[in-house]
Amino acid sequence: MKDIIADRTKLIDASGIRKVFALGATLDDPVNFSIGQPDFDVPEALKEVAIKAIRAGQNSYSQTAGDEILKERIAERVSKEYGWENPAVLVVSGVSGGLLLAFLSLVNPGDEVIVPDPYFVMYKHLVNMLGGKCVFVDSYPDFMLPAEKIADAITDKTKMIILNSPCNPTGMVYSEDQVKAVAEIAAKKDILVLTDEIYERFCYDGECPSIAKYYEKSLVLHGFSKSHAMTGWRLGYVAAHESLKDVIEQMTKIQQYTFVCAPTPFQKAALAALDYDVSDLVDAYRKKRDLLYDGLRDTFELVKPLGAFYAFVKAPDGSTASAFVGKAIANNVLIIPGNVFSEKDTHFRISYATTDEKIRQGVEILRKLV
Ligand code: PMP
Repeated sequence: MKDIIADRTKLIDASGIRKVFALGATLDDPVNFSIGQPDFDVPEALKEVAIKAIRAGQNSYSQTAGDEILKERIAERVSKEYGWENPAVLVVSGVSGGLLLAFLSLVNPGDEVIVPDPYFVMYKHLVNMLGGKCVFVDSYPDFMLPAEKIADAITDKTKMIILNSPCNPTGMVYSEDQVKAVAEIAAKKDILVLTDEIYERFCYDGECPSIAKYYEKSLVLHGFSKSHAMTGWRLGYVAAHESLKDVIEQMTKIQQYTFVCAPTPFQKAALAALDYDVSDLVDAYRKKRDLLYDGLRDTFELVKPLGAFYAFVKAPDGSTASAFVGKAIANNVLIIPGNVFSEKDTHFRISYATTDEKIRQGVEILRKLV
């Protein structure tokens, strides 16, 4: 058979993470610092809601845009947080589903999408697949939001700016001043901002300000995967100001012919999750952050992570990140090279979403490798 695979698949390179997984599979009980999901399970009360919904026969399609009551509750929350009246809401199959629908609805071939580097991998590959182009703005070495560089990167082809705070992979949380500065820049040029706030609950030192509070042309993505450990339940939502209603409508139209709807029984659990207090879990994760940061700070160059559950650490002098990752894996510690999330190969990502004991072990091993 001749080559039957569509050309667009060649625009996606999953080799970086795959290599780590392949190497990891050969290890016996490794320190796994590579996983992007919490090490706790879905809270029991939320499992019960999902089980009840399944038993009660709530197993068929929901409305394309999501369960009406869930949408109303999300709209209430969004109105309160960002001061938006009548926001448009779409319940999606995880933030990943929301990202795909957003890019399918917005990105034309040739469009430019401004993304601070390092970035969450999916943005680059989805934008590429649609014929768009990511314009990366360097946020090294402090990983703060590079507002001026963003302003300089805007051209006639700019379709949107992507923000992700707290950030995967850097653990950085953008300050109010930084998001306000980008809001001003975007407003001046009338450019849409897509803000991925999936880690909003994992915010350890004060506020995690959303640009949506300062800029109406923000498309906000939230999810339940991280905050409630529901990565396999595939639940998230997209919200926008009334003035961006058409974007949500187009995304809903595409959802109708792709995902159809987010999983119905888990939408019931998501409703309960909106009221479920995860502050104990966040407190435990703050302690994990401290354990990791205090363990590495005198041996490695790293910025203190303020949110999410990642640290982005500079490889020791004289070593590329990929070479150092190889060394770490050979010593039973799984980490991901920074070039999976960046145009540079200088740092590596640690996910500290694991037990305190494994964090201690991993820190000890990494320190010895320098
Ligand atoms: N955005 C970011 C920044 C992420 O880290 C992830 C998960 N790794 C997602 C979106 C996707 O999450 P989900 O599809 O499970 O909601």
